[in-house]
Amino acid sequence: MNKQFQLLNLIFTFIISFSLTFIVVSARLFPDVPSWIPSGTPPAGAWDAFRNFTGCHHGVKYDGLSNLKNYFQHFGYISHAPQLNFSDNFDDALENAIKTYQKNFNLNITGELDDNTLRQIVLPRCGVADIINGTTAMNAGKEKETTSYGHSKPKFHTLSHFTVFPGQPRWPEGKQELTYAFFPGNDLSKTVKSVFATAFARWSEVTTLTFTETESYSSADMKIGFFEGDHGDGEPFDGSLGTLAHAFSPTNGRFHLDAAEDWVVSGDISKSSLPTAVDLESVAVHEIGHLLGLGHSSVEDAIMFPTISSRMKKVVLAEDDVRGIQYLYGTNPSYNGSTTTSSPETNSGNCGRSLTTVWSLWSLFTFLTFAFSPFVL
Ligand SMILES: [Zn+2]
Ligand SMILES: [Zn+2]
Repeated sequence: MNKQFQLLNLIFTFIISFSLTFIVVSARLFPDVPSWIPSGTPPAGAWDAFRNFTGCHHGVKYDGLSNLKNYFQHFGYISHAPQLNFSDNFDDALENAIKTYQKNFNLNITGELDDNTLRQIVLPRCGVADIINGTTAMNAGKEKETTSYGHSKPKFHTLSHFTVFPGQPRWPEGKQELTYAFFPGNDLSKTVKSVFATAFARWSEVTTLTFTETESYSSADMKIGFFEGDHGDGEPFDGSLGTLAHAFSPTNGRFHLDAAEDWVVSGDISKSSLPTAVDLESVAVHEIGHLLGLGHSSVEDAIMFPTISSRMKKVVLAEDDVRGIQYLYGTNPSYNGSTTTSSPETNSGNCGRSLTTVWSLWSLFTFLTFAFSPFVL
């Protein structure tokens, strides 16, 4: 009887440790600005190789150019079935994609892969497409007679520069109090969670929406998690830099961050020696904009601009962002016209627990369970 109990106990321990080992996702979180200089060469950004296409010309074939076409397809600039393999030819479709991209990002519209255009293309950015269902509401959508899509009128609302998703999805009227929860497998520290709370507060300050953290991941309106590579929603992450995060339009509520980034939780990130350091709050404020229904804006100062450089902090809502969110949800009567939410700072010695450590502990636990099991029985 006693042996049976021990056997059951062992099986139970194994199941628990096995499942927890697999649901824990390691994320690279730095509680403060890393001041150390990494040894060796820094990891290449996901799109760095595109810089080699500087000066490439229409009508010529270049090795690997199909990868750039995949990039443009991902962000909505080339409409093709995903299963279709692109050629390496610099064709009309690529030239049109470049022109539309240049309009959206306030670049000279040349249709060529000039230095300024490629410098913009390789910047880390949000994974949400700029053009959804073939229609852009960024700059290029405002010049409907010159777009390559031939729509008689833009489908997006183009008041100001902000954009909303097609169909203008938003959280239902009357539902002012929204909840959010963190993916339990990440086991985030309080310091990390507070960054998201501050990011939410920036949006609630200018509207009447409120955001409250809840323990129940399954029932929360918004679900936040760090994931690596292919994580089951058809939008795989790509490692260091490249795509940083993505979020879905209302009322889906999913907000995913690439666990492979070097996320910095607090401090003056511009002073970081780590070239791949990404400011967590900046990305959180942007993605929450998507969760609430905003699309990308061509205004470079706006939170909803699609790209952000590494070692850059941008957390204050621009006028364009405020107009956008108030277009969807109305104003906050107590909002005085300027955003004031300040970023929380943590002591540099306050070391949050890295998720890699958590993963390692569970691996050790599993190992010990197996190593000592014959002696238990
Ligand atoms: Zn975005
Ligand atoms: Zn995802």
